[in-house]
Amino acid sequence: MKIEIFDSTLRDGAQAEGISFSVSDKIKIAKALDNLGIDYVEAGNPGSNKKDLEFFKEAKNIKFNHTKLVAFGSTRRCNISPSEDANLNALLEAGTEYVCIFGKSSLFHVENIINTTKEENLEMISDSIVYLKNNNRKVFFDAEHFFDGYKSNRDYAILSLVTAEKAGADEIILCDTNGGTFPDEMIDILKDVMSNVKVPVGIHAHNDCGMAISISVLAAIAGCKQVQGTFLGYGERCGNANLSAIIANLELKKGFECLPKGNISLLTSTAREIAEISNFKLGYNLPYVGSSAFAHKAGMHIDGVYKNSKSFEHISPDEVGNERKFLISEVAGKSTVIAKINKIYPDVNKNDPHLTKIIDRIKELEYGGYQFEGADASFELIVHKAFDKFKPFFEVLDFKTIGQGPLEKEKYSASAIIKVRVGENIEVTADNGDGPVDALNKALRKAISKFYPVLNEVYLSDYKVRILDGKESATRATTRVIIESTDGENTWSTVGVSKDIIEASFKALIDSIEYKLFKENN
Ligand SMILES: [Zn+2]
Repeated sequence: MKIEIFDSTLRDGAQAEGISFSVSDKIKIAKALDNLGIDYVEAGNPGSNKKDLEFFKEAKNIKFNHTKLVAFGSTRRCNISPSEDANLNALLEAGTEYVCIFGKSSLFHVENIINTTKEENLEMISDSIVYLKNNNRKVFFDAEHFFDGYKSNRDYAILSLVTAEKAGADEIILCDTNGGTFPDEMIDILKDVMSNVKVPVGIHAHNDCGMAISISVLAAIAGCKQVQGTFLGYGERCGNANLSAIIANLELKKGFECLPKGNISLLTSTAREIAEISNFKLGYNLPYVGSSAFAHKAGMHIDGVYKNSKSFEHISPDEVGNERKFLISEVAGKSTVIAKINKIYPDVNKNDPHLTKIIDRIKELEYGGYQFEGADASFELIVHKAFDKFKPFFEVLDFKTIGQGPLEKEKYSASAIIKVRVGENIEVTADNGDGPVDALNKALRKAISKFYPVLNEVYLSDYKVRILDGKESATRATTRVIIESTDGENTWSTVGVSKDIIEASFKALIDSIEYKLFKENN
């Protein structure tokens, strides 16, 4: 039995404290979800957010293999016609085949929050859906505050759904907007709904009672066709239903089909990628995908797992692309590494002698705080180096950065001096920048771009810093820097780690330049 998975990381998830997606972040997340085989990706609210409209414009040029993008908005405002409603028209402008609109199904909200009559609210639902259907859209209707509305006035809540069904909604989604509903209540209400509407029903749960996963899984078992959530549970307050856990639960425990066959093994790598793009550390104890989901520490447990992994594991970690861990350090799984190497050298198999060299190098770097999930270009360089395909293009002999101040008076806040060897030549250059990393970046480029003019096309498009070990004081802790570079056509990410933030940045920068030069010459 197929369950449709509807991911709202880019819309509801973007409401989470600490999240701010750029258009390029959104595109990367949408592609990661597409690669995994998520059915629907709700990518934003074009009527309320210019950035979201820009996303939909750019997305028109991107080919998605599986995912259908969904634009989100609300029913029309009170007392106007749908064609006059800017929000509905922005939804159409997004140009997606699917749209999702939310409307009120709680009489309390109708009368006290949007201050209109119960009749007008039903007209708003009906008109808006008819308008979108007349414009050839597939319409999902999100019944906002449905469960609370049902508890305070069952008949009106059901009437709002029947109205949406009559107007032509393709699916109706029951939203537990405040996240206060218990699973047993939800089941009773769901049964009542399904005896009153014929159109397929979906569930949209929030996690305020810590039960969003349970609610979503039980709703699917009870007959919901669609489950909405965010991939890692990101969302306002305590978050949305965590789809990565729901998908694994439904597929591995209950025999439902959520993803294209075999794709569940991509679950963990997708989780890591999305966390990285969101600039969050992936929750170590997240079910299925967390780095500790299959980590064993107690001696007896480790012994048990060695004898038979079923002794202390509910599933095998490879099923979801995760790894079993016995150590505290993060260690790359062999199969994950082979899969990544095969993207570069398709013929490498597990007996290849280079493999040990690569895995040892990666283990060593991961132990020191590196992580390659969000830094494919750095990973690729390690692989090329192990195969002796990489010849150095330049060597940095020395560098210095000097801070300047006071900040307000000077145009630039730092300078950098760098000494580089390119073949027989030794270059010493200096430059200014906004901060030491920018100054170093400029000085390095100045030194080597006359030998490699192609570097003039390259610029940094993103820069992320993470402090790794919380035990030490933050100013002495290890820092991981991930930078994203682009030449306008391709984008690549590299990583550097050091106790010194400038050195970590510089390592990532050097990888970025080496990667570009390597690609250009091979
Ligand atoms: Zn929501």
